[in-house]
Amino acid sequence: MSQLTEIISHSPATGAEIGHYPNTSPETIHELVTRARAASSQWNDIGFKGRKVILREWAHYIAEHIDELADLVSAETGKPTSDAMLEISIAIDHLSWAARNASRYLRNSHRAPGLLMVNMSTHVEYQPLGVVGVIGPWNYPVFTPMGSIAYALAAGNAVVFKPSEYTPGVGHWLGESFNKVAPGANVFFVATGGPETGAALTRSDVNKIAFTGSTATGKKIAAICAEKLTPVLMECGGTDPAIIDRDCDIERAAEAVLWGAMANAGQTCVGIERVYVHEEIAAAFNSKISEMASHLVAGRDYGAATMPKQLNVIENHLRDAAAKGAEFIVGSVDSVQPPYVLPTIMTNVPEDSLAVAEETFGPTLTIKSVSSMSEAITLANASNYGLAASVWSKRNGKAIASQLHCGMVSVNSVLAFTATPTMPFGGVKQSGYGRIHGPEGLREFAYTRAVVALRFNIPLIFTTFNRKPFVNKFIKRFIQILNR
Ligand code: NAD
Repeated sequence: MSQLTEIISHSPATGAEIGHYPNTSPETIHELVTRARAASSQWNDIGFKGRKVILREWAHYIAEHIDELADLVSAETGKPTSDAMLEISIAIDHLSWAARNASRYLRNSHRAPGLLMVNMSTHVEYQPLGVVGVIGPWNYPVFTPMGSIAYALAAGNAVVFKPSEYTPGVGHWLGESFNKVAPGANVFFVATGGPETGAALTRSDVNKIAFTGSTATGKKIAAICAEKLTPVLMECGGTDPAIIDRDCDIERAAEAVLWGAMANAGQTCVGIERVYVHEEIAAAFNSKISEMASHLVAGRDYGAATMPKQLNVIENHLRDAAAKGAEFIVGSVDSVQPPYVLPTIMTNVPEDSLAVAEETFGPTLTIKSVSSMSEAITLANASNYGLAASVWSKRNGKAIASQLHCGMVSVNSVLAFTATPTMPFGGVKQSGYGRIHGPEGLREFAYTRAVVALRFNIPLIFTTFNRKPFVNKFIKRFIQILNR
C-alpha cells in the first residue's frame, strides 16, 4: 500500500481540521538526513560559543511568540492554553540551559594517567555523534522533544525531528522558528508523518535515535536499531506511584497528587497513577483528595483526550477494575464521556488489574492503603515500569525515595524534576534507558574519545616485542606492592 502524501491534524475537542502537513516519505527522510550530515561539520566547527548564540536566539524567539505557539499546542492537544504556556516555558528553560552549559559539561576532561602510565598525558573528549533522529509523542509536543533536540544541537549534532502525527503543526512551527533564527543552517529539519515516517527515520543513516513514546513502539524501534547497532535513547511509559506516609502534610499531598494524576487529562508519562497511603491516614487522605477532585471540571481544568483511541484503553481499565471489585470514590465505571474523561479515583483495586499494572494515561487514580512504608515500597517497585515517583513524608521522604527502583523521585512535591534543567530525566525497566536533560542529557548526544599522549620517555617501555626482562619483573613487583 502506498503511503498517503498528507496527514491532517484535528482538534481533539471538536474534531475540526487544524492543518495539513506532508506525510514525509522514506526518500525525503534519506535526503534530509544527508543534508543534515553535510551541515553538521560546520555546526560542530562553530563551537560551543557559536551554537550558544544561535540556540539562545531561538529560545528568545520562542519566548517572544509563546502565545502563538501555546494556541497551536492547545488546538492540537486539547489542553488548556495556560497548561500549554507552562509546558513551553519549561521547554525554553531547557533550551537555554543546554545552550549555556554544553561547553561546561562537554569540554575535554583531564584524567589521572595512573602510576604505570605516569609519563603520559590523558584526557577524554566529547564528540558530537553526527545526525540525531528525534521521534516525539503528542502529550507534551514542545517540552518532550525539546529535551532531546536542544541537548543534541547544543552538543554539536544536527537533528531530524519526527513529531507525533497528532501534533504535526507544533513540530512544523518549531522547525520554522529555528529557520527564522538560523536560515540555511540545515541542522534542524522537521519531518512530519505517521509511524512509517518514524520507522524510515529509524532505518536511515542517523547516528542515534532519541525516542519518546509508548513502551510498545519503543520495542519496535529498538528492534530496528539493533539491525545496524544504531544507539537509541528510550523515554517510554510509566505507572508512577505516590507514597504517602502518616507524617505528611495531608492537604498538600492530596492537592499535589491530584494535580500529578489529572493535569493534562492524565496524559503525562510521569503522571501519578497509583497511590500507596499509610492506613493510619488513609481515610483522611481519601476524603481530602475526593473533595478536591469533586471541584475539577473536564474541559476546563484539563482538556479532551488527545488521541481518541486512548479512550478505549481507559474504559477497558475502568471496566476491568470494576469487575475485580474496585470501589469508585470519585467518578464511575462510565467516566469516559468522549472526548473527555471525568476525574476518577478508585480504591480496592487489585494490584494485578490493568489500572494498576498498565499505563492508563487518563485522569484516573487508584489508591491502596498499606500497613507500613516498606509495604508501600515493595508494591511501588513491583511494577514492570520504573519512570518516576512522588514521596510524601516530613521525616523519611529521602530515605523512602532511596529505595525506589525508578529514574526520578520528587519528595514532598510532584514532577519537580521536569522543570529543573540540571536534573537527568529518564527511567528504568520498561520505562526505557538513557537520559535527557542535565549534564547526562548533553553527554547522551556525544561519544567519548580517550586520548593518551606521550609526555616524556622512561626506560620502562611495555609496548614492544623487545620488552626487557627487568621490565616484566618491575611490573609484577609494582602491582604486587600496590595490591598488598
Ligand atoms: P507512540 O508510541 O504511539 O508514538 C510516539 C512516536 O512514535 C510518534 O511520533 C509515532 O508516530 C512514532 N511511531 C509509532 N510507531 C512507530 C514505528 N513503528 N517506528 C517509528 N516510529 C513510530 O506514543 P504516543 O501515544 O505518541 O505518546 C504517549 C506515550 O509516550 C505514553 O506511553 C507516554 O508515557 C510516553 N511518554 C514518555 C515520556 C518519557 O519521557 N518517558 C514522555 C512523554 C510521553
